[in-house]
Amino acid sequence: MTTRLDGFHDIDDGSVVVEVLPERFWTKILANQFANGCWYWCGSTSKDGYGRFSWKGRTYGAHRVSFWKFHGVVPTGNYELDHLCNNRCCVNPAHLEIVSHGLNMRRARQRKQWAAEDRAALLASRGVA
Ligand SMILES: [Zn+2]
Repeated sequence: MTTRLDGFHDIDDGSVVVEVLPERFWTKILANQFANGCWYWCGSTSKDGYGRFSWKGRTYGAHRVSFWKFHGVVPTGNYELDHLCNNRCCVNPAHLEIVSHGLNMRRARQRKQWAAEDRAALLASRGVA
């Protein structure tokens, strides 16, 4: 059994036999209702905003469960799922990409910088900054 740094279990650690996901997984998702295409997880979340799904006595990242269900694989080891939509509670598999931990961190820094630049530009355009 492996527990990731983010507190979630890996799905393909041998502890979960591939079978039908319980119906309640799908009842926690609001999909196809938003222009951004995100599937919002309405179940419980981790303190840093990722969806959590408890199954067979363990807790998994909801986005990881979704990715596994649609792609049949989830990244392990040094690989993570990057939310291309930058929305941590999104579980749309099309919005997730397998990337290395390093690339995930670089992208996160880049997005933070873009957000700061956007904010500064907005404030400047309103004569605030
Ligand atoms: Zn999304």
